[in-house]
Amino acid sequence: MSVATETKVSLEGLNLTASRRAVLDIVKGAKKPMKAYDILSDLQQVIPHAKPPTVYRALDYLVTNHLLHRVNAQNAFVYCQHHEKCFHDHPERFNVIFTCITCGAITEQAHHVMSNVMAEMTKAMGFMSDSHILECTGVCKECS
Ligand SMILES: [Zn+2]
Ligand SMILES: [Zn+2]
Repeated sequence: MSVATETKVSLEGLNLTASRRAVLDIVKGAKKPMKAYDILSDLQQVIPHAKPPTVYRALDYLVTNHLLHRVNAQNAFVYCQHHEKCFHDHPERFNVIFTCITCGAITEQAHHVMSNVMAEMTKAMGFMSDSHILECTGVCKECS
């Protein structure tokens, strides 16, 4: 089965409830990583009765389905910048999230060599990686 690499984010097969959809749109529309409590206050503009568990459950689902990534360095969430490139067809792919410690800017990059090395390492260890995300903190070009 061939899959076009130009296709937009496929939400097919995903169960996007109103709150999941709203959380996805909030994080996608943000210029910077969003912390859970910021997402909650934005969500309450759309769904006034939304409570913290609503946000946490939605984030869990969206991260598990690779639409969002958790950035541990900031304890925040970002929209997957590589989702358009058929992430689901390359389960062994690893992306790096670079976080600027000065301005908070985030860039997500992929490199096939690194993916291969990571896939080899995890296979040799018998390690089941669930995030497929590596993090690198430092100072971006604009801030250095
Ligand atoms: Zn990604
Ligand atoms: Zn910066």
